[in-house]
Amino acid sequence: MVKETGFYDMLGVKPSASPEELKKAYRKLALKYHPDKNPTEGEKFKQISQAYEVLSDAKKREVYDRGGEKAIKEGGNGGSCSPMDIFDLFFGGGGRMHRERRGKNVVHQLTVSLEDLYNGTTRKLALQKNVICDKCEGRGGRKGVIEVCPLCRGVGVQVRLHHLAPGMVQQISTVCEGCQGQGQRLGHRDRCKTCTGRKILRQKKILEVHIDKGMKDGQKIVFHGEGDQEPGLKPGDIIIVLDQRAHPLYTRQGDDLIVSMELQLVESLCGFQKPIKTLDSRTLLITSHPGELIKPGDKKCVMNEGMPMHRRPFEKGKLIIHSNVVFPEENFLPLNKLKELERFLPNKQENMESDSMDDDLYIYADLEDCDLSHERHHYHYIEEEDFYPSGGVQCQTS
Ligand SMILES: [Zn+2]
Ligand SMILES: [Zn+2]
Repeated sequence: MVKETGFYDMLGVKPSASPEELKKAYRKLALKYHPDKNPTEGEKFKQISQAYEVLSDAKKREVYDRGGEKAIKEGGNGGSCSPMDIFDLFFGGGGRMHRERRGKNVVHQLTVSLEDLYNGTTRKLALQKNVICDKCEGRGGRKGVIEVCPLCRGVGVQVRLHHLAPGMVQQISTVCEGCQGQGQRLGHRDRCKTCTGRKILRQKKILEVHIDKGMKDGQKIVFHGEGDQEPGLKPGDIIIVLDQRAHPLYTRQGDDLIVSMELQLVESLCGFQKPIKTLDSRTLLITSHPGELIKPGDKKCVMNEGMPMHRRPFEKGKLIIHSNVVFPEENFLPLNKLKELERFLPNKQENMESDSMDDDLYIYADLEDCDLSHERHHYHYIEEEDFYPSGGVQCQTS
């Protein structure tokens, strides 16, 4: 039992979630609420990051499960990393070491189908990126005509103090209005015509993303140095994160594929042949062995028909078939035929010697349909009434 579930709720997972489930939940939410994509949700981004930082660390998770958020704060275990650091670490960003001298990484989620991951494919991704103006080589104007911006003294940032409440001051940094963050100013005539002095140009870029056979949901494809260019900085990376759409038929589990198969009762008893369409559009004819009987919930597998393994695409996992047996409709046979069918089925279990027993000792009980969900609801309702005795009937406590 965990003390509180706030961090789990934040990530939308159960307290029993595996590290894999936590990762997946963080990945989805962090990309959705990242300030680049959702600038108004900064607080939410921070909370998700904090929850993930604690829950992704086995020791911190244990502390949290036992003592809740309070224990984390008291133990000095939380908030040691900034949300951006957590994000960068998770998505394989440059990390702290390179942070100062590199442009930031850009993370994109790319939705793919299970077929894409099975067969491999190439996707073209159109995106906008900043590139350094080649006309002025990123200076913004002719050589030697640049002056330092007087508003920000060349820093490119203006710092303002914002009074939230008595004694509480928030420091807000904004891009300098005088120079748009460039730190320098140029006379109108001296500006580069191509970039109008901005040093960089917005350029459309087509990325070819090669998705190899066997790649997995959440896998990253990194384009080194393809991020936004900025004068004086090494460009960051573009990181593509694969996001696999759920498939209507197949579920993937590592290198295995799981499919459920509906069998008629006659097929489960007497054998069957059933076609299954594979993810590369071949047709497998699933055939039971003569005399084999498939029970509801049975799992059987076909070797080497699962997912191809990444970088070893000729090796494949298993195809696991979960069987579900459909029983015939009620009264599918006239009563006299049922007797006939009975002869072919294994014997009924012997009752106690009914001859020696007096007929009066039996109470005949008929089977009826019953709505259990309704029953439970009714019970709950009564309980609630007991819980809030608003005058009227009181619980007896003798
Ligand atoms: Zn230019
Ligand atoms: Zn300025």
